[in-house]
Parts: sequence; structure tokens; C-alpha cells
Amino acid sequence: MGKIDLHIHTSASDGTFTPRETVELAGKLGLSAIAITDHDTVAGVKDALIAGEELGVKVIPGIEISAGYDDGVHILGLFIDPKSVALRPALDWVIREREARNERIVNAMVSDGIPISLQELQTANPNAVLGRPHIAQWLMNNGYVSSMVEAFDRYLDKGRVYYRSRQRIPLSDAVSCIRNAGGVAVIAHPLQYGYEGTEMETFIRTCVDEGCRAMECIYSGYGREQREMLVSMAAEYGLAVSGGSDFHGKRKPHIQMGWGIDGEVSVPDSVLEGLLQIAKKC
Ligand code: AMP
Ligand code: FE
Ligand code: FE
Ligand code: ZN
Repeated sequence: MGKIDLHIHTSASDGTFTPRETVELAGKLGLSAIAITDHDTVAGVKDALIAGEELGVKVIPGIEISAGYDDGVHILGLFIDPKSVALRPALDWVIREREARNERIVNAMVSDGIPISLQELQTANPNAVLGRPHIAQWLMNNGYVSSMVEAFDRYLDKGRVYYRSRQRIPLSDAVSCIRNAGGVAVIAHPLQYGYEGTEMETFIRTCVDEGCRAMECIYSGYGREQREMLVSMAAEYGLAVSGGSDFHGKRKPHIQMGWGIDGEVSVPDSVLEGLLQIAKKC
């Protein structure tokens, strides 16, 4: 039985390994398949596919879109065609919103005498879609904080001094752009949003009604009981099961590809079969 990991970030967003390095690591770890799911971009997919061909690792083209529902939720798109024109308008809009938000954060910091600049961030992270993690890294490298967690806790999390909100693409648009690009829309890490009981049910029902066809039931930090609860909820809503670590390389060093924090992310390749069955019907 092969092992897979269907939630991975590269340097095209806020991961620290290039797409090629990411695939090389997957090969070394003996994973049979990985999905590249960068935040709001497919820029890393092409290089990963080329490396996957060379190294015998199946690479699934994917994306993780931040969508509008409450304070924002994440929808994974798996098996998308990265060249699809269906993705372009939505992603271009999302990236413009992100850039405008980054600029607001950086301007606020500069007004307070913190000498950060967007240009420096982009130079330090070439080809990356920039976000708060890159700003957090800068604060750490420049001695303002001693960890990424502290950067968020003190400055960047919602309610903190340099938090700036951004417009998110509506959930329905996020899901339809994934589906129009040939992908399966997957509810990402459903326990990260603080929903319980009916709130959770309403959330999942809404996602299903919008066209999500799978749910991430295996995820870093989710214990056995949580995984089992999610798998039974998925069955109840007719959703396929997905699973992945949300690997970000050195930016989240406690999370290992294909493993999670404590071995709780161990996704068998049968999960991929289930998703492929659903993909055929999408
Ligand atoms: P952005 O998409 O630019 O708003 O940044 C969100 C990303 O920042 C998430 O995907 C996480 O990778 C990271 N992040 C969010 N909150 C925290 C936190 N409290 N500590 C560390 N990383 C975080
Ligand atoms: Fe991230
Ligand atoms: Fe996420
Ligand atoms: Zn992620």
C-alpha cells in the first residue's frame, strides 16, 4: 500500500521548498502521489509535474483557494487543469486583492517606523504569491519577533495591530472555478474554523450545495476520533474523503510531509482512488 499527501505548499506560495525540491522530498519519503496545493496560485504546478515525471512520483495539480464564508474558509481544488482559462479571472482578482492587502499592512508598518518593503519581500521570495507568512518571516529575520507564531500573535492575526482584511472570492465562485477547470472541490481542514454542531452542519451543507465533492478528513493535528468523526460526516453528505499534511517546509517545521506532526497523517493511496471516482462524475 502506497502513501500519499494531498495538501502541500511550495515556494510558489508560502512553502519554503521549490516545486522540484518538494517532489524530490516526496520521492525520498517514498510517497506514491502528492498534490501541489498552493494558496491562490497554480504557478508551482508545471515544475512539479516535470519533476514528478522524472522521479516517478505522481503529481496531482491542485490549488487552495481562500473563499468568502464567515471569516473565510479554504477550498482545495484537486485534479485541476492549471492551464484552464476558467481559473484566470478568479485568480487574477484574488491576487490583486492580496497585493492590495499586503500593501496596506506594509504601509501601516512603515508609518510606525518598521523599515519593511514589498520589494524586499518579493526579492526574498521570488515568484511567490506573497502573504502574511512572508511578512511574519521578515519580522523574525529582523529581530522584531522570535517565531512565526509570535509574529501572528503580536502583529498579524485578526484583531492585532497590523491585521488588514481582504475581500475574498465568494464560496460559490471558488468552487465553480475549480470545477470549470476540471477539478474536484474539497472542503479543506474543516475543524480549523471553530464550527460545532449546527454551524458545522450548515457549513458542510452549504459547501455541498455549492458543489464540493470531498472533505479533508485526515489532516495535521487531527486525532483518531476527529478523523473518524469527519469520515462519518463525509459519508453522511456523500463526500469523498481526502487527506494531507498541509506541509509548508521550514515555515511550519513541526509538520512533516506524508506524516503530519505525530504520524497522524497517513493517507493510503485508496483515498486517491475514491477521489478519482468522484472526479469522473464531476
Ligand atoms: P494570508 O493568506 O496571507 O492571509 O496568510 C494566511 C496563512 O498564514 C495561512 O495559510 C497560514 O499558513 C499562516 N498563518 C495564519 N495564522 C497563523 C498563525 N497564527 N501562526 C502561524 N501561521 C499562521
Ligand atoms: Fe499557508
Ligand atoms: Fe488552509
Ligand atoms: Zn494549506
